[in-house]
Amino acid sequence: MAQVFMNYIGGDRVSCRSKQTFPDINPARTSEVIGEFQASAREDVEQACDAAVKAQPSWSAMPAPRRGEFLFKAAELLESRLEQISREMTREEGKTLPEARGEVKRAINIFRYFGGEGARSFSYQIPSERENVFCYTLRKPLGVVGLITPWNFPIAIPAWKMAPALVAGNTVVIKPASLAPLCAYRLAEAMHEVGIAPGVLNLVTGSGGCAGNALAEHPGIKAISFTGSCEVGNALYEKLARRKVRVQLEMGGKNPTIVLKDSDLEYAADVLVNGAFFSTGQKCTACSRAIIEKEIYDPLVEILIDKTRALKVGDGLDAGVQIGPAIDEKQLETDMKYIEIAKGEGAKLLTGGRRLAGGIYDQGYFVEPTIFGSVTPGMRIANEEVFGPVLGLMAANDFDEAMRLANSVRFGLSASIVTRDVTRIHQFANGIEAGLITVNLPTAGVEYQLPFGGTKESSFGMREQGPQALDFYTETRTVYLKYTQ
Ligand code: NAP
Repeated sequence: MAQVFMNYIGGDRVSCRSKQTFPDINPARTSEVIGEFQASAREDVEQACDAAVKAQPSWSAMPAPRRGEFLFKAAELLESRLEQISREMTREEGKTLPEARGEVKRAINIFRYFGGEGARSFSYQIPSERENVFCYTLRKPLGVVGLITPWNFPIAIPAWKMAPALVAGNTVVIKPASLAPLCAYRLAEAMHEVGIAPGVLNLVTGSGGCAGNALAEHPGIKAISFTGSCEVGNALYEKLARRKVRVQLEMGGKNPTIVLKDSDLEYAADVLVNGAFFSTGQKCTACSRAIIEKEIYDPLVEILIDKTRALKVGDGLDAGVQIGPAIDEKQLETDMKYIEIAKGEGAKLLTGGRRLAGGIYDQGYFVEPTIFGSVTPGMRIANEEVFGPVLGLMAANDFDEAMRLANSVRFGLSASIVTRDVTRIHQFANGIEAGLITVNLPTAGVEYQLPFGGTKESSFGMREQGPQALDFYTETRTVYLKYTQ
């Protein structure tokens, strides 16, 4: 019998009122249930929000450096459990163990970084036009914030929302993704063990349509930070805007890598393979479009196909495996559906394209890393997010055409260019419609100390991570103080 994990509400581990649970399943071995989680309903979410409302005044009254100390201590605890949590992540999400270790380490770094923000400048002082008047700003927490997170970065995303929210003096209710809730549970557990006061952090598991929706509708919530699909994010925005609840949406992408003709082709192929296929293409920042100058199209494609065919797909816990499974049957079906759509639209299947079968593959949701050539701008495979290991290749006559193609989609999350041409690099950085811009690097791979977020349909609201993360979780007050009468 799998372990049953409780909600964490008001400092206690509690079951949901209905006592119903749902399973957290290993996508590489679908007979393995990692744990049973609470199938929470509106009443459970209300209980968590009420606990957060109650805890907020004393938490926000605590000096910010002391709030930060909880994050430092939790980081220590998480570090001592790095291997355990990494293995759990691989089992619940499917990414490879080295990728999972990197993500857990990132969550630890995020906790340390925002722990330090407690003792750094939260506000500023500005000279007044008037004599003997001293002007400064104060940052105030918003109150209770709701966090709704996806499965693909099951510890980093909860950490990068939770840590700035807490250090700024807010109390939190988090609803993690149902497909990978254990990692977020481990964060809450660490905060509990380092003595965070009851109600400051609350975790409620359950379906988005029920628990997530109830969180967004709770009148005590002052802000929602959401990462996930455009469909859910846009619906949340419509609902929240009516009540003027502050909202931050991080959503999908159709991220391009432009490769110019001066590039080292081996290097460019590595950038593409990494960006398109690592983490099974299930990163919001994954590269799904390669736009290649026509002079190097054929030789680059040849190298790219060889490198892609050499990738080892399997259970992420097994040594040497580079690509894990799709997260669940639905995502696997989406991958296969888009492969069929691309074929039907006339894109040329260059490698991959099949669900893997036989041996371990029969136990999970494994798809071959797939490349399509001859992709044209009107095709759905060039415009819609697949969220799987599927890369479309497009040839461009020159840099200007490559830029037009890159910017021709509704998304604008990340984008990269591979070139040594310094003029083109600057033109790219200035002209590309993306929030995360990389040069001679894959489209994916962000660091916690810099702002993160996209443009166009990919994102809405303020940036996450880095110093700007605190903007979302605080409200600025302005003080004019005359020190004479
Ligand atoms: P999703 O289906 O939108 O789910 C995201 C979260 O929203 C989950 O916790 C989900 O709960 C919850 N949810 C679902 N319906 C809801 C509703 N009606 N009200 C409130 N909450 C609701 O997305 P996903 O499949 O987990 O993640 C994949 C997507 O996330 C991709 O589009 C990817 O590009 C995007 N993503 C973006 C970023 C970024 O920073 N831009 C980062 C990572 C992922 P359940 O799990 O219970 O359904």
